[in-house]
Amino acid sequence: MAMFAKHFDTLQNSILLKSYHPNVGGMCLCGKNVALFRCAGQEYCFQGRLRCQSCIVRDHMSLPFHRIEKWTGTYFMETSLKSLGYILHLGHSGEPCPNVDHNRAHSRFRPMVITHSNGLHHIAVHFCYCYSTPPDAIQLLDAQLFPTTMDHPETAFSFGVLDHFHQLTLSSKKSLFDYDDCLVKLTDPAFPQDVPV
Ligand SMILES: [Zn+2]
Ligand SMILES: [Zn+2]
Ligand SMILES: [Zn+2]
Repeated sequence: MAMFAKHFDTLQNSILLKSYHPNVGGMCLCGKNVALFRCAGQEYCFQGRLRCQSCIVRDHMSLPFHRIEKWTGTYFMETSLKSLGYILHLGHSGEPCPNVDHNRAHSRFRPMVITHSNGLHHIAVHFCYCYSTPPDAIQLLDAQLFPTTMDHPETAFSFGVLDHFHQLTLSSKKSLFDYDDCLVKLTDPAFPQDVPV
């Protein structure tokens, strides 16, 4: 412990820097907008820089379970990729289905709740509309998301969270009830009672 004690101020500053970012108020690397958004939470873009709304949405095309924070001027407030216009496209490696009417794309996504090992996520999902494409539930499975029903699924679990729970219950006998409680608190530590069951 003595080894750390003499560096206490430095360690404290590094930890407190989590609540701030040295580049707040600066321009995004794209040069078009002020960078107000950052990636935060249990899973995040390592050493991620502040970005503008369009850049942070674009950069998360294949990272739907990252949580986003917005600089309000005085602190970072949690927001979400969905509220910033993010859509998870299925069937084309994350790219929009070419057989979709892009003018209507935003009206045809399905709001889903997807559970991952860092909690629950409200995500707008756009399914593939190509000819002979598999049913929605199979499209989710192909993206490693296990649907809770085979008919018009609106909730799903990532393969990652299923594997995480499997290993946890084997090694620690963690109950499903306790694991669910943990996921709820990871989703919203301040107001876990507001997280949908
Ligand atoms: Zn990220
Ligand atoms: Zn940008
Ligand atoms: Zn398609």
